[in-house]
Amino acid sequence: MVTIDEKLEPVLNQVLQRNAGDLEFHQAVREVLESLGRVIAKHPKYLDSSLIERICEPERQIIFRIPWVDDQGTVQINRGFRVQFNSALGPYKGGIRFHPSVNIGIIKFLGFEQIFKNALTGMPIGGGKGGSDFNPRGRSNGEIMRFCQSFMTEMFRHIGEYTDVPAGDIGVGGREIGYMFGQYKRLTNRYEAGVLTGKALFYGGSRARTEATGYGATYFVERMLATKSDAFEGKRVVVSGSGNVAIYTMEKILEFGGKIVACSDSNGYIVDEDGIDLALIKEIKEIRRDRISTYKQLKGNGARYIEQGSIWDVPCDVAMPSATQNELTGKDARTLVKNGVIAVGEGANMPSTPDAVRIFQESQVLFAPSKAANAGGVATSALEMQQNASRDSWTFEQTESRLATIMHNIHDRCAETAEEYGSPGDYVLGANIAGFVRVAEAMDALGVI
Ligand code: GLU
Repeated sequence: MVTIDEKLEPVLNQVLQRNAGDLEFHQAVREVLESLGRVIAKHPKYLDSSLIERICEPERQIIFRIPWVDDQGTVQINRGFRVQFNSALGPYKGGIRFHPSVNIGIIKFLGFEQIFKNALTGMPIGGGKGGSDFNPRGRSNGEIMRFCQSFMTEMFRHIGEYTDVPAGDIGVGGREIGYMFGQYKRLTNRYEAGVLTGKALFYGGSRARTEATGYGATYFVERMLATKSDAFEGKRVVVSGSGNVAIYTMEKILEFGGKIVACSDSNGYIVDEDGIDLALIKEIKEIRRDRISTYKQLKGNGARYIEQGSIWDVPCDVAMPSATQNELTGKDARTLVKNGVIAVGEGANMPSTPDAVRIFQESQVLFAPSKAANAGGVATSALEMQQNASRDSWTFEQTESRLATIMHNIHDRCAETAEEYGSPGDYVLGANIAGFVRVAEAMDALGVI
């Protein structure tokens, strides 16, 4: 059972009180603070200067109204958020999420996680996150465009290539980034490509950005398996989700010789013992923008679609939760362990509940936490910013090879830090400490900020 250092307990209580009701945010703060006991024993100045308390308080939180007109001519209102959490290492950087579950607590939770993830990449980027409770499901292309334009009509005044650089997240892909960039350009009269990442290639996007989160998570897990002289080759893998992260996780795992037996969407999951047909998944999700249930009809024999129950009931060697936060519970973790899972790599942001993480770690399952494993997306966003700043465009191979190196470095940094702080193999501790120390050193150098 992980406990919090007694010197950090008052800090945690302060943060919880100040953010009463933001339960997901509590979870994220607790998770990081639980790892910091050994850091403050070594560097008491971080406690004395209230640095940990400062790091838990966003530099700025923006909440705004998003009015827009639907296809019936009715005025709709949504709420928009941007939490500019920490800019000690560079401009705020992090995605925008469009999902009905979005509220300020969720954005703070994701933004807090983003600070340490971005620090782990070694790139000059701070941490932020944004979004709206807008539900894009079933909305026409015109509605999506008008919504994105209205979102940007407020957000443009808060962002900029040296200030805050948003990107996509759940519900926000290349199409939405395009509509937002178009509106930013009109409002500012500036062709400032570096203001957003995840752009399409023909207006300043980076090759390999779409693939980066999934590819990166796979590189991380491959390297983690290698520490046990193992690899994806010949492994049964379950990847939850079927969005951008899941699709490119599956693609790289297939390249590494693994077999994907199941994937899902928010309605249910499919199991295909012949191995999931990735081309078909891409057609359903990226071209038809349809539900995963159609896989069974299109594929015909062999595939099963299951609406009730959990995808984690499907036995596998490696689990890659790549859908959303807290999707893998303690019960799921127990099932996976019973069925012989050897490694878990988090592609989504904090998809395993704290209970699940504890069970994996107690059962000696190799566990790659999201802030390390899925950092390839934001790292490649930073590469996109580099290309924009130098008005350059790199090849796919060049960009992917930078991504692979970054992921290997993140892996090794987490592993070495865990070892240095007395818990070899504990990637949660390693990631939290390595990420925290990089931000803390920068904050310390910049005075009381
Ligand atoms: N939304 C992604 C994440 O959670 C990417 C953020 C970015 O590229 O700025 O890390």
